[in-house]
Amino acid sequence: MARTRLIIFSDLDGTLLNHENYGWQQAMPALKRVEEAGIPLILNSSKTASEIRVVRQQLGNTDPFIVENSAAVVVPAGTFGNESEQIVHFGASRTEVLKVLEAQRASGARFRGFADMSDEELAQFTGLDLESAARARQRLGTEPLLWEGSEEERVSFEAALGAENLRLVKGGRFYHAMGIFDKADGARFLQNKYREQYQELYGDERVTAIALGDSPNDQQMLEEADIPVVIRGVNSSEVQLPSEKHAMRSLKPGPEGWNECVLNLLFEYGY
Ligand SMILES: [Mg+2]
Repeated sequence: MARTRLIIFSDLDGTLLNHENYGWQQAMPALKRVEEAGIPLILNSSKTASEIRVVRQQLGNTDPFIVENSAAVVVPAGTFGNESEQIVHFGASRTEVLKVLEAQRASGARFRGFADMSDEELAQFTGLDLESAARARQRLGTEPLLWEGSEEERVSFEAALGAENLRLVKGGRFYHAMGIFDKADGARFLQNKYREQYQELYGDERVTAIALGDSPNDQQMLEEADIPVVIRGVNSSEVQLPSEKHAMRSLKPGPEGWNECVLNLLFEYGY
């Protein structure tokens, strides 16, 4: 009997990357096995494409990746027979988001977004170094902004964005203006692409998707997968797991937990 084909979707911060120092060394044994087995490892994060490219390079990962919480998927050249790199958007592109924001500003909304800031200003505000600030500003579909008006004005700003099919989501430090999509959209898109490819190559389109995440913003990605894996972390107890699925929770946090769960699953599926 043919082995089950696996695809792995993984969040970065607090999941594959350590919360404190962004290290992943503790996940090395599992990462190595995943690579040797030719199992696609799809990074899915709130980070920008430029930021994820740095992580991919360090990991030696060449698979497609999902950026800005699924605002877009980046498909490297050659992955699905595509000649050049493809960027697939879910919801509005950043250009469209910025256009709506400019119209709002013209009618009196007061805010300062990443597009309004220089790399220096963002670096100063966030404590990032200049290069990291530059990478955080290269965006495909979401615009973080500091709200400078009253709460009442913010409520009507949010309603105005809603009328344009945009959302305003509160993050840690910034509000995020973005289109309507969730962290599962990119994963769903890529699962279908891999199914088509496996059907063509092997005449068998069965794919089992594993997803790993550590916080409530991974909920939809986890629900979309066949095997949701919750990595222990500060907010992981808030993540609900569907009881009918082959779901698991790691005992250890971050990359240590990632390593433990992925190695167990590879063993279970004969890899
Ligand atoms: Mg996380």
